[in-house]
Amino acid sequence: MSARDDGSLQGRAEVLGLFLGSCGNTLPALTISFMTSSSDPLRVAVVGGGIAGLAVSAALRQQGHVVEIFEASDTNNEPGFGIAIPPNGIKALEALQGQRGNILPVEWKQVQFESSHRTSDLVYYIDTEQYQAVFVYRGDKPPVSFNMEYYPSAFGQYLAGCSRISLHSELKHLAFSDQHEHPPCIIHLSCFTLSCDPDQGTITLKDGQKLQFDLVIGADGIKSRIRRSINPTLPGPSATGICAFRFTIGKTKLLECLPELEWIKKDELAGPRVLLGGRSRNIFMYAINCPERGEVFSVTVRCKDKRDQTISKWRVDVPRETMLTLFHDFDTKWQKLLNLAPPVISLWQLRALEPIQPWSRGKTCILGDAAHAMFQNLDQGAAQSLEDALLLRTLLPPGTPKSAIPEILKRFENIRQPRVHSIQKLSIKQLLLPVTVKNPNYLRSPELQTPIMGYDVVNELSPCQFSSIPEEIEGRKTVAPASSCDGWAEQNPVLH
Ligand SMILES: Cc1cc2nc3c(=O)[nH]c(=O)nc-3n(C[C@H](O)[C@H](O)[C@H](O)COP(=O)(O)OP(=O)(O)OC[C@H]3O[C@@H](n4cnc5c(N)ncnc54)[C@H](O)[C@@H]3O)c2cc1C
Repeated sequence: MSARDDGSLQGRAEVLGLFLGSCGNTLPALTISFMTSSSDPLRVAVVGGGIAGLAVSAALRQQGHVVEIFEASDTNNEPGFGIAIPPNGIKALEALQGQRGNILPVEWKQVQFESSHRTSDLVYYIDTEQYQAVFVYRGDKPPVSFNMEYYPSAFGQYLAGCSRISLHSELKHLAFSDQHEHPPCIIHLSCFTLSCDPDQGTITLKDGQKLQFDLVIGADGIKSRIRRSINPTLPGPSATGICAFRFTIGKTKLLECLPELEWIKKDELAGPRVLLGGRSRNIFMYAINCPERGEVFSVTVRCKDKRDQTISKWRVDVPRETMLTLFHDFDTKWQKLLNLAPPVISLWQLRALEPIQPWSRGKTCILGDAAHAMFQNLDQGAAQSLEDALLLRTLLPPGTPKSAIPEILKRFENIRQPRVHSIQKLSIKQLLLPVTVKNPNYLRSPELQTPIMGYDVVNELSPCQFSSIPEEIEGRKTVAPASSCDGWAEQNPVLH
């Protein structure tokens, strides 16, 4: 358990005296001054207080900038589901001064595949010549393990499962705690941002207030308003025809109700179980340490969405029976597992963005899911958000002149997009990959994994640094940053 956090932003903010309350209170309008000395901090508005928003707020606070977060919800708390953080994400968290131990990670040393039916045929096959074969056999054969113990030597870390609450909480600490250097960030709750004027750096809140900043960062997730303000013609997230139910079950309850799940009894928390039901249905579950509930299992149940996703709600609450009906033919023990879900559960459409550009205009940029919402199959959503935040920290050192911001934001997207777009494309490709064909699968392909998870954010970003007054601002020739980030995708052709 984290020794210092109850997971509640409200609790922490009360301690720190940081809350400015909801937008019902009129906020002081901020104005841009171009007459200031180069050491003046930037005034930054971050729209959205999710993982990406908190990460970039903490990152810019570390450069001494003055950051205000505008969050639509009234609590800014995450749901208690699990999130898988890959090695590059853990490295990015640490580079952001986050403590790995505080997210209570459960290291994944193996993933195990099991058949959903006692009598099913072979449902999974991978090319044996190039990649380790994975078979799920007919009948009661033991599950097949896939080893992940090479991760620390290959990528410097294990992939870790943790509660979203723990990760969010650690980022809140970095953004709001007075134990860190520079004044803490400020958060305004119940502040839905309707739009922004990217060139002016002005945001418009739902109550009509207009506030001006030196820099506006849209971290407002997959349905981003700031993305639309930068370019209203950018395509939104596509429907996939896939949906997922999500819920958690306490370990004690699982043990009581399903003693036949030996692997839970044996305390094998080291990695997920995937219960495969052919191509279109599976149950994915893994253990997390939840700050308030102890050991729980995070369960994601995926299947085809028979609704018309273009007109149905992205998230709806449905009775548990809806899920049970869809999985009625699964083995009895898995039906018992699904029966442990709460009586009403959430059903999400799975959606993702195709690679888009631009991510910036004038004084405004987007990052995190607002810029590159992707499927969860590569576990890269949070990791890429943390990497975005770190690059902005690198590109916006103390003394950054306000006049340089538009150019710096272009540089940000030029450096990040080759990497992120490649990952988005790979993620889409992997999702659409039929599990029975002889195709390289990310899970068991170090060639595909290395450029993504072996990325060491500190070493990779250090060549991206440049002086606080970029050359082009001084009227000299524009020079692309001599960066190992440039040409990243070309250096890693397997991602195309
Ligand atoms: C159920 C689920 C499971 C996932 N599992 C994984 C995983 O295992 N591994 C992984 O790497 N990634 C996973 N992801 C993706 C990952 O969570 C995100 O990529 C990552 O958290 C970055 O999200 P974000 O902060 O950009 O957006 P969000 O988390 O969506 O946060 C956006 C924030 O902005 C606020 N907001 C939205 N609109 C406005 C507005 N107009 N004005 C003000 N505030 C606004 C929202 O209230 C929210 O707080 C998962 C995502 C989901 C939904």
